[in-house]
Amino acid sequence: MAFSQFAKVIVRNSIRPIATRNYSSKSIPNGYNFELNETQKEFQDTARKFAREEILPVAPEYDKTGSYPWDIFKKAHQLGLVNTHIPEEFGGLEMGVFDSCLILEEIGYACTGIGTALEATSLGQTPVLLTGNKEQQKKYLGRLIEEPIVAAYAVTEPGAGSDVNGLKTRAEKKGDEYILNGQKMWITGGGVANWYFVLARTNPDPKAPASKAFTGFIVEREWPGVTPGRKEINMGQRASDTRGITFEDVRVPKENVLVSEGEGFKIAMATFDKTRPPVAAEAVGLAQRCLDEASKYALERKTFGTAIFNHQAVAFMLADMAIGVETGRMAWMRAAWETDRNIRNSYSAAVAKCWGADMANRAASDAVQIFGGNGFNSDYPVEKLMRDAKIFQIYEGTSQIQRLIISRHLAERAKTLN
Ligand SMILES: Cc1cc2nc3c(=O)[nH]c(=O)nc-3n(C[C@H](O)[C@H](O)[C@H](O)COP(=O)(O)OP(=O)(O)OC[C@H]3O[C@@H](n4cnc5c(N)ncnc54)[C@H](O)[C@@H]3O)c2cc1C
Repeated sequence: MAFSQFAKVIVRNSIRPIATRNYSSKSIPNGYNFELNETQKEFQDTARKFAREEILPVAPEYDKTGSYPWDIFKKAHQLGLVNTHIPEEFGGLEMGVFDSCLILEEIGYACTGIGTALEATSLGQTPVLLTGNKEQQKKYLGRLIEEPIVAAYAVTEPGAGSDVNGLKTRAEKKGDEYILNGQKMWITGGGVANWYFVLARTNPDPKAPASKAFTGFIVEREWPGVTPGRKEINMGQRASDTRGITFEDVRVPKENVLVSEGEGFKIAMATFDKTRPPVAAEAVGLAQRCLDEASKYALERKTFGTAIFNHQAVAFMLADMAIGVETGRMAWMRAAWETDRNIRNSYSAAVAKCWGADMANRAASDAVQIFGGNGFNSDYPVEKLMRDAKIFQIYEGTSQIQRLIISRHLAERAKTLN
């Protein structure tokens, strides 16, 4: 069903679907501007209402059970809060990265575990959005609009995460097919996805440069030889489904190669320029929640005859959290704004992702501190926030890898200084 049809069907209860009008984020005016336009405010309001009413109350239960939030995913699909980037010609909203970040920050406020479960499908579909041909896009992106199903991004392996050049999964060309063998690890949505973006080595020469050695494929979950492993029990973000996947003599038609043989590494890396700003936005949402929960608690909790907010040591922790949240929001906004204008944003996306991740971890740890003993207990919200925050420093490139990207950029820039 096309999205405009959805919109007519789903003017139900109080949350309006966001796709009730034709929209293009390319209409954002030039020049510095700290105000959202009316459409963006509408997106933000819809996402905030959905996050606070539909996600926040059930987040602790999903955290406890670790079950995949299908109910929430289906509602988000109906409301247009997932698949936001898919072009209009395939039934999507063709939203820019900036606007999807607005949505993600709101969802991150409510639960980043559910947020990651919703967002991971964007990570899986971005290589196809960026580089898929019309047939591939129609088939695989159109499918995501028609039904509430998800895609996943399968690059990491048990032996290689940061060092993508170390991937061992192989695809060998035989006639009109590739035969895929290998093992992926830590794949978000690995057990629930309908199809995967898979990066595999196609050049058997171990000395071949990464930029030529790998190929990106679209691989369907139901094809013989594709076997997701058990759901991993993670420290936080437990509603998100993380698994290993084994590929054993999987026959992939050559039509499912993205761009051409040898182009996979560039596709996999270019994806992050689009997906790191939303990850940063989610981390900012989590940090804002830490600030709000800790502020409320600091007004209520009394020691030495006064609210702990009145102790400067506590108030300054809150002030530092606010500084982190405000600057983290500016950072994702810039990175998203740049990519929406086709400005190369690897640097600003790394800054936003690294700062968002590190800042959210400090905010969560300080929120636990402000809650004292209660903060260490799962009856209070901040314990989960601290567990959920950690992964932001690991997935989509660790904080060390972001610093590597930033420092390489600085080295290039230094060469231009006199
Ligand atoms: C919950 C979860 C979900 C994930 N989802 C996905 C997914 O959907 N798709 C996917 O493909 N992958 C996914 N990943 C994998 C994730 O991207 C990797 O775990 C991450 O890139 C780090 O790789 P690694 O675990 O192999 O750590 P390693 O690369 O082994 O790194 C170990 C440590 O060494 C540091 N390090 C490594 N190299 C350097 C260097 N050159 N300089 C400085 N420090 C360095 C790292 O920062 C890290 O602290 C997920 C992981 C988790 C835990």
